[in-house]
Amino acid sequence: GPEVRFERVSFAYDSDRPILSEVDFTMRPGTITAVVGPSGAGKSTLARLLYRFYDVSGGRILVDGQDIRSVTQHSLRAAIGIVPQDTVLFNDTLGYNVAYGRPGASAAEIEDVCRSAQLHGFIARLPQGYETPVGERGLKLSGGEKQRVAIARMLLKDPAILVLDEATSALDTRNEQAIQGALRTAAAGRTTLVIAHRLSTVVDADRVLVLDHGRIAESGTHAALLEQD
Ligand code: ADP
Ligand code: ADP
Repeated sequence: GPEVRFERVSFAYDSDRPILSEVDFTMRPGTITAVVGPSGAGKSTLARLLYRFYDVSGGRILVDGQDIRSVTQHSLRAAIGIVPQDTVLFNDTLGYNVAYGRPGASAAEIEDVCRSAQLHGFIARLPQGYETPVGERGLKLSGGEKQRVAIARMLLKDPAILVLDEATSALDTRNEQAIQGALRTAAAGRTTLVIAHRLSTVVDADRVLVLDHGRIAESGTHAALLEQD
């Protein structure tokens, strides 16, 4: 993956209320960087700035040294895969739901990413491969299965930069462990940003940043931050 650098990034949705203040960190290629902190700290806003849903108010975001405002939005977004907190499923087949965003994908490719996302047990429950609708009028999926559809989607997109925004927050422990495994595999070779409430869910991170009121309050390894608690 590429190097991603937030360089003294500041941001406000409304000019009178700063959300991020001089946030400065570097995500090294091939590593997992976690951002933890309380609700409202500004974690999701970081992801939105990277994807250019919004542009920074101050500072810069650099991907391999290049300001993301100087590349086309299309190529930026092609490089970034987001696994969101709540995955929206279409009332369509599993294959369609996974291939959404890459319509030309072959059945073999879809099957491959479903296996990596630990959806194989689920595929077996569908008659004729992936033909039954998995949306609201079709098969009911658990929260964990929906998350795994989002992971399969992301794997098919094959982005260099991966953003996991509270990707396992809604799950029970058993599902969370299964998905952590799938995400560890997914993070290999990419530059990964993990957003989480709790330090305990980001043990795999190479570096953890604690965000508080839009500022980096602390940073270090998971183990070093745990010792301070
Ligand atoms: P700061 O904590 O102000 O960001 P540095 O970027 O210099 O300061 O990093 C402090 C320590 O953390 C250094 O030992 C550095 O090697 C390490 N470090 C910095 N960025 C990363 C990263 N993305 N992944 C792992 N370790 C990192
Ligand atoms: P976190 O992900 O850490 O919970 P967010 O980045 O979602 O935090 O939000 C940070 C702050 O920005 C919160 O106070 C939130 O209310 C505010 N905020 C988030 N999105 C918007 C928006 N679209 N317009 C105005 N304020 C927003």
